[in-house]
Amino acid sequence: MEDRFGHRISYLRISITDRCNERCRYCLPEERQEWLPRDGILSYEEILRILRIGAGMGIRKVRITGGEPLTRRNVLSLIRSVAAVPGVEDIGISTNGTLLADVPAEESGEGVTMARHLVEAGVRTVNISLDTLDQAAYAAITNRDFHARALAGIEAACVAGFESVKLNCVLMKGRTEHEVSDLVEFAHDHECLLRFIELMPVSTTEVLTADNFLSCGTVQQILAARYGPLVPCPEVRTNGPASYWRIPDRNQLVGFIGAMTNLHFCESCNKLRLTADGKLRPCLGSHMETDLITPLRAGASDDEITRLIADTVDRKPKEHDFRTTYLPGRRMIAIGG
Ligand code: SAM
Repeated sequence: MEDRFGHRISYLRISITDRCNERCRYCLPEERQEWLPRDGILSYEEILRILRIGAGMGIRKVRITGGEPLTRRNVLSLIRSVAAVPGVEDIGISTNGTLLADVPAEESGEGVTMARHLVEAGVRTVNISLDTLDQAAYAAITNRDFHARALAGIEAACVAGFESVKLNCVLMKGRTEHEVSDLVEFAHDHECLLRFIELMPVSTTEVLTADNFLSCGTVQQILAARYGPLVPCPEVRTNGPASYWRIPDRNQLVGFIGAMTNLHFCESCNKLRLTADGKLRPCLGSHMETDLITPLRAGASDDEITRLIADTVDRKPKEHDFRTTYLPGRRMIAIGG
């Protein structure tokens, strides 16, 4: 699939729940949440039907996300089915890591962690959120005291057999600067790929202000002061828009997801997003979306769903609206990060 601007679409991010066991300030800031009603969420069968049709149109990579995807029941059975969809070559998951070290009771195998079960189910790569190494700061950001669980989850992921474990750190001015090098050292010690993500205005208007925005460029300067100038590695690409740089004299890459400051950010975009409530979004930073759940439940044929997906690709914008007209609408948690 290719859109009007030459974006080649092969990647579907599937949000399987809008619920989360944490309350990150920049993602779902209010404590009192109105979750979507259960029957407003796509069932696993509905997700798989959309994916089968999408895979027939060229989707090759899938990322399971949320909300916190590991809070949805029987997530492993969904992943096994996703792995069996013809055409799907690569499955990743995004998680806050707090449940990765748990041993799921409903699965066989004594002492086998969720991380290991994910690998056995077919997940190749895991992205784990880690904004801070400080327990109190973690609790302040996430509104939950789960720092130890998140770290245990990272340890479990590191030995589970994933092809890659990435750590995602959302940048917050006044919070992240003094930890940047510690996070790099932590990632180095754990052989994980660390990525810094610029704050995006996806939840409420207070989330992104001049007072709390920290750019990837500033982080690069902080790292250069500690390690020497970073070496750009344009040849390194993962499936997303991150750009990678190498720490001098060290075989360690650091990624930067500069949605706000990188003017080329959208050029290589290859994604569609399926929200937990069955809307297909061509772009995170645009409110455009196509309702799939209503036609699906009204008995639409595969051809009709194919047409709706193709239309969505056709309407994919050249670039996101975050720098221009975007006003927060649906929270990140409802879209699927
Ligand atoms: N719960 C999972 C997790 O923690 O990764 C998956 C969903 S979460 C919405 C996906 C990613 O989006 C996380 O790395 C999170 O930090 C990031 N994120 C959420 N809100 C954001 C915002 N306003 N700006 C930038 N990144 C954000």
